[in-house]
Amino acid sequence: MSEDGLFQGSMFEKKPAATAGDGGRFPKSRAGGKFLFSYSKMSMYRECPLKYKFKYVDKLPEKPKSYFALGHSVHKALEFFHSRLPVPPIEELKSSFEQDWKLKTFLEKGYADEEKERQDLEKGKKILERYHARHGEETKLPFLCEYTAYVDVDGVRVITIADKIEYLGGGRIKIVDYKTGKPGKRNSDQLYLYQKIAELDPVLREKAAEKLGEKVKKLVVDGMLYYYVETLKEVAFERAGDKEIGEFWERALGVVENINSAKFEANPGEFQCNFCDFKAGCPVFEGAFPSPKKNVSAGGELEETALRYAELQEKLKAVKSEISDCEKKLEKFFRDGVISLEKDGLKLKIEKKEKLEFRDRERIIGLLKEGGVYEKTLKPTVQAIMDLLKDPEVGEELKKEIKSSASVSWQIVSEISRKKEL
Ligand code: SF4
Repeated sequence: MSEDGLFQGSMFEKKPAATAGDGGRFPKSRAGGKFLFSYSKMSMYRECPLKYKFKYVDKLPEKPKSYFALGHSVHKALEFFHSRLPVPPIEELKSSFEQDWKLKTFLEKGYADEEKERQDLEKGKKILERYHARHGEETKLPFLCEYTAYVDVDGVRVITIADKIEYLGGGRIKIVDYKTGKPGKRNSDQLYLYQKIAELDPVLREKAAEKLGEKVKKLVVDGMLYYYVETLKEVAFERAGDKEIGEFWERALGVVENINSAKFEANPGEFQCNFCDFKAGCPVFEGAFPSPKKNVSAGGELEETALRYAELQEKLKAVKSEISDCEKKLEKFFRDGVISLEKDGLKLKIEKKEKLEFRDRERIIGLLKEGGVYEKTLKPTVQAIMDLLKDPEVGEELKKEIKSSASVSWQIVSEISRKKEL
């Protein structure tokens, strides 16, 4: 979770109180009068110092971003999921997600329309269904979830929020960071900051003693993990060496030094400017990245075809939404997953089929080999695995394990024919 998420609606909305030595730029409160440094701040400053100033010093409001809404509610639901054993049933998990989702309107969450908000609500539920199918049998609670650390280092108060911390025994911990987006490149600085702060944090050591009954003199980060919740893909990173951490911290202190010296030069660039809410007040933006030219005067065939295309897309969207409503209404009429109907020459068969998706290919191959059934498939295609699941010679335990490695969804398939009138 972003450290900024913590501040929204809390201290940064209050009028900042001046603190000695910082020219009144930074607020007191949990920072204890000190400048509160986070990975989000470092990252924004490096993107564009002026953008940083607009946001953190001038405290200009930013528009809500819909892509943060889904991540926020999924994080909250996963915190709830890991709060007890046995883990909450899937319906309870989805309803906790929905409760958090409904705390804000679609506009407050940054969606352009209610349909897009509804699509993300459904996407969030699917993410949780897959997560539950994979982790529903868990028998161990994590050491900590959504743990916020405040640590003073070299005169700087740093805040980090770890999504999940697992205790590996003997003073070793693993930090897990949930990602709701698609797998991207490793963000080393974020990982370095997690590692540095976790190992310096005295409260974390106390918690280890209190929760696990283990007196630990030193906690060591043994590894970190990006967990992509949409695909259940895990990307693991080894702990960073002292040299990397040292160099990173020098860079971080450089950023703090610049902020304290009020160095807020604009750094225009396509990426940062396109995602900047402060363009209107920015003295250097005008004309730097003009919007792509619009075909205002295209006219003729181009205009006609483009408008027709837009019209058809709109119709298609409306039809899709109506089909989805019908599918929901038909839900209670399925008998053994099938609905059959014949009327006035119309023959209709609607089938509800389980759809399995195997994203972790290596794990599936491992399971098939362990279970001694790998040879039964020429290639472990989805169809071949589905056939194995129906094979009476394959053990029930193995079938269960294979199914729990898959994300399960339902698809509705229909066959429609109409008698031609003579
Ligand atoms: S518009 Fe570009 S240059 Fe101006 S503050 Fe935003 S990111 Fe910086």
